[in-house]
Amino acid sequence: MKRHYLLLSLVFWVSFSACKKDSDEVDYNTVENFYRSVSTIEVEVAYEPDAAPYTTLPNGDNIWLFTQTNIEALFDGRDLPVSVTVPPNLAAMQQIPDQNRDNYSAQDIVNLANRFRQGTNTETSGNLWVVFVDGYFKQNDTLRTNVLGVNITGTSITAVFKPVIENSGLLTAQRRYVEQNTVVHELGHGLGLVNSGLPLTNDHHDEANGGHCDNEDCVMFWQNQGVANLSSFINQMGMSQFSVVFGPECLQDSRAFYP
Ligand SMILES: [Zn+2]
Ligand SMILES: [Zn+2]
Repeated sequence: MKRHYLLLSLVFWVSFSACKKDSDEVDYNTVENFYRSVSTIEVEVAYEPDAAPYTTLPNGDNIWLFTQTNIEALFDGRDLPVSVTVPPNLAAMQQIPDQNRDNYSAQDIVNLANRFRQGTNTETSGNLWVVFVDGYFKQNDTLRTNVLGVNITGTSITAVFKPVIENSGLLTAQRRYVEQNTVVHELGHGLGLVNSGLPLTNDHHDEANGGHCDNEDCVMFWQNQGVANLSSFINQMGMSQFSVVFGPECLQDSRAFYP
């Protein structure tokens, strides 16, 4: 009799916990989550000591306002206003220990996020994590010395490969905007562009080149992830920290998405 009772209570407990698990199972770490009920998005930045990002323009203004302007543009005009915060200076970013390596695979970058990322994604707040590393991207055992940045597909984890910017042969003035455009391009991927979580509202997906936009004047154009094209894009567009570099097609996708 006692055995039956124990067995019965065990069955109840199992079904109760299974039920509870179902209701707790909302995954906030998805692209869709940014477009449901998130009202604040924080851009969190970490960097290795020799890979610190640029933070100011020559006049002292915060160049990260460029990233803020562009993420805000993606959410402009939506039902729920979204406010975006960026770090005002290096002190508001996290210096992580020198990792003493010259290359990073996608898994290495995820491992860094697991160790150092401080913010989380919740029902009402989004966290975009960007790490600046003193090394190159390693893709399937090939060192990609021309890749400026990567977004880990389907996540809000982005890495910028600082030596690619530093060895670009560009003037410092251009490097700042190459760096900021790299951040915006990769965060664009992290927020679902193009056709990578954000459904298309118009025909601008350059399928031959992955999750990119076929508008050459858009930061999500595939060649705008390389130094040469990106620097001429910057010259041609004439950058300020309030320039919007997403084209109308990409903006239309993000502004229309209500999952
Ligand atoms: Zn890209
Ligand atoms: Zn576009």
